[in-house]
Amino acid sequence: MANILDGKAIAEKVRAEVRADVAGFTSAHGRAPGLTVVLVGEDPASVVYTRNKERSAKECGIAGTLIRLPAETPEAEVLALVERLNRDDAVDGILVQLPLPKQVREAEVLRAIDPDKDVDGFHALNAGRLATGHPALVPCTPLGCMRLIAESGVELAGARAVVVGRSNIVGKPIAQLLLAKHATVTIAHSRTRDLPAVCREADVLVAAVGRANLVRGDWIKPGAVVIDVGINRGADGKLVGDVAFAEAAERAGHLTPVPGGVGPMTIACLLANTVTAARAREAAKRRA
Ligand code: NAD
Repeated sequence: MANILDGKAIAEKVRAEVRADVAGFTSAHGRAPGLTVVLVGEDPASVVYTRNKERSAKECGIAGTLIRLPAETPEAEVLALVERLNRDDAVDGILVQLPLPKQVREAEVLRAIDPDKDVDGFHALNAGRLATGHPALVPCTPLGCMRLIAESGVELAGARAVVVGRSNIVGKPIAQLLLAKHATVTIAHSRTRDLPAVCREADVLVAAVGRANLVRGDWIKPGAVVIDVGINRGADGKLVGDVAFAEAAERAGHLTPVPGGVGPMTIACLLANTVTAARAREAAKRRA
């Protein structure tokens, strides 16, 4: 039976590390790291996510602020707010919650965020820095996956890793992070031929698709580390991942559950990114 990688417990460890880092930063610089979360509109899931982000930041000693704008806010006003936050020295991290209402272009807003405050790691400059091996703010979910993989104790150098899914915010950055750790990485996607055979080669398998129970037990190499990023609603309304959990648990060496695996890691890594951004900004000020 697979060892279950407990995302809740590991996220709690990350938060404890962040709390200690925040305390150290605050005493060194006379101010707490600042995170501003922007929510445009009333999307119910986004309301919950942004509240959790603000509350979790405050719990760790970060100066968390949530700014809510009405759903009909014009794009120019959202961009003006981002510009103001870019200039605000007390703000180290800016997160604009996606999706945005249709009159506001996502790409324009993401491009407007100062890359050094881009704690979601979605700015093209951060994606480029990650791809070229330069220090970057890395998207939170991929960062959380890497921490879970690290907790499994697997040696990544030389390992075969397969990432199923090629989105800019999950699949591609996870693949880059695995490559940076010297894994031999395959990115599989909706056009991949014989996906089960590709998955069977993986010492580390990451599923980031959004299809309930896509990855079956017999797609998994015995003993593999399996990270399930997918969040899907099953026929009974319960949350399920992209990996058929019970089958996978018979074959995998380590496996993340859904819920309680990757999910809790994402906010913890956002808080860690806020401290990373704050430290980098203070270091840049000292150099200037
Ligand atoms: P996306 O829709 O942008 O990308 C999905 C990817 O899966 C695409 O690259 C596509 O090529 C691939 N794909 C689709 N059907 C496929 C198939 N049949 N076989 C192989 N590949 C296939 O989604 P995303 O934003 O990358 O998110 C993926 C999943 O992860 C979703 O379920 C999402 O809810 C979840 N997610 C979870 C967290 C978290 O914190 N746990 C964060 C972000 C996303």
